[in-house]
Amino acid sequence: MQPGTEADSQGGTTPTCRLAEREKTACPLCGKVVSRKTLAHSHTCRADAATRAQLQEERARARVEERMRRLQADREAAQLLEQRRAKYANLALF
Ligand SMILES: [Zn+2]
Repeated sequence: MQPGTEADSQGGTTPTCRLAEREKTACPLCGKVVSRKTLAHSHTCRADAATRAQLQEERARARVEERMRRLQADREAAQLLEQRRAKYANLALF
């Protein structure tokens, strides 16, 4: 847009969506007041980043717990197998 044409853009020719983009709104997550356009495209939300970090942490923890559970299950299965083998070995003695 060239300087001097601004009066024309205020004459009702600006599309409504453009006006909506310039409308100020508060981010529902962090409460920062930005334009709708900024919120939709370039707003780096601190609350969002925190939520994402938390989500990643939870997911990582879940993965570790899952691995531990599987290891534990393997260990228990091995123990059970060992117990059975010992029992059969004892039976075989008689
Ligand atoms: Zn935000």
